[in-house]
Amino acid sequence: MKYMVIRASDVKHIDFDKVEQTSVDTLRYNNKKTQTFVKWKSKCECCDRAFTKPSFLSKCKNTTGPLTHEQMKEILSYDLWTPRNPSNEELERSMRTVKESPNTEYAEEE
Ligand SMILES: [Zn+2]
Repeated sequence: MKYMVIRASDVKHIDFDKVEQTSVDTLRYNNKKTQTFVKWKSKCECCDRAFTKPSFLSKCKNTTGPLTHEQMKEILSYDLWTPRNPSNEELERSMRTVKESPNTEYAEEE
């Protein structure tokens, strides 16, 4: 999968036939609701042919990407993208200095 961070104001340009998200309701925004992201298959499942990025992205300004799964996961670990009001357990985990196993919430197959 490839990922692209786009501005919330460019959501209207998204062609949902070209991305894995199915509708605006399935988009995930950052905490300021200024950005969201889309993902698409980087290659064909039948023949491994590489897919280029969806053409609608050329209408979107100030995009970040294309990003790999690892890069996107890193962005989602930033405070801006971490849901607010974390549970006590999450707070406790984030305060530990020892790095634990990565958050698997967004782990998906490449
Ligand atoms: Zn194919």
